[in-house]
Amino acid sequence: MKDSHVHTVLSHDGRSTAREYLAAAHARGVDEITFTEHFDLYDGVPSPLRTLDVAACRRAYRELEPVPGVRANFGVEIGLRPECREKIRAMTGENAFDFIIGSSHITAGRDMAFDPSFFAGKTRREAYLVYFGEVLANIRLFDDFDVYGHLDYVVRYGGYPEKKIAYDEFREALDAILRALAEKGKGLEVNSSGYRYGLSSPHPNPEILRRFRELGGETVTLGSDAHQVSQLASGLPEAMEAARAAGFSYYAVFRERKPVYFKL
Ligand SMILES: [Zn+2]
Ligand SMILES: [Zn+2]
Repeated sequence: MKDSHVHTVLSHDGRSTAREYLAAAHARGVDEITFTEHFDLYDGVPSPLRTLDVAACRRAYRELEPVPGVRANFGVEIGLRPECREKIRAMTGENAFDFIIGSSHITAGRDMAFDPSFFAGKTRREAYLVYFGEVLANIRLFDDFDVYGHLDYVVRYGGYPEKKIAYDEFREALDAILRALAEKGKGLEVNSSGYRYGLSSPHPNPEILRRFRELGGETVTLGSDAHQVSQLASGLPEAMEAARAAGFSYYAVFRERKPVYFKL
């Protein structure tokens, strides 16, 4: 298996080192790991977290002892924010990545995972539409990403009892996003961390994945979003099955920003 979304201790919430992941790869059935540390900019957002030092990160990867039979790629997961466009563009221009996941973490100036005020005074629908609106703005504004990460992960937050984004419920917003990705030739990540959050589906859920295919989406990548070795490749077989069921025959791994396709 190939895991295209892995965080190490270089990410604020990672618990294992790159060396530990590589050492565990064989045992977990993995022959390719793409490290994707968080790069989030906290401009205007009160947060104790610091933005990733990409240069230090590159140095750390360069010192890694290769493990025979396990390929390691150097990626990044960028928290896209329209207001940080120039800084993000500068960072991606200065660094040669294998793979870039564009995600929405801080949305409308709030990090919904940590700051419940994002949801204050909004219904579930209103809050999610703000999130989807900013995802669409990011897709239109940025070229420097390969896939959009964990598209419907907003379901984890806000404390609402309904934990699924039914496609019909947000059809208009989702179609605009999926169409924009397909038209730009960008891919969608199938993120298996949903299973660890008890959602019984990856992010995004199979209805959304299928719709991406229908609207001309061609590229999906698979990632566990592991933050520790025990999560490496967790849920990937199920995510592969979900991608197959949605109509995809291949998944991609990015090397030097180019997709290499493998049979699902
Ligand atoms: Zn993320
Ligand atoms: Zn992640």
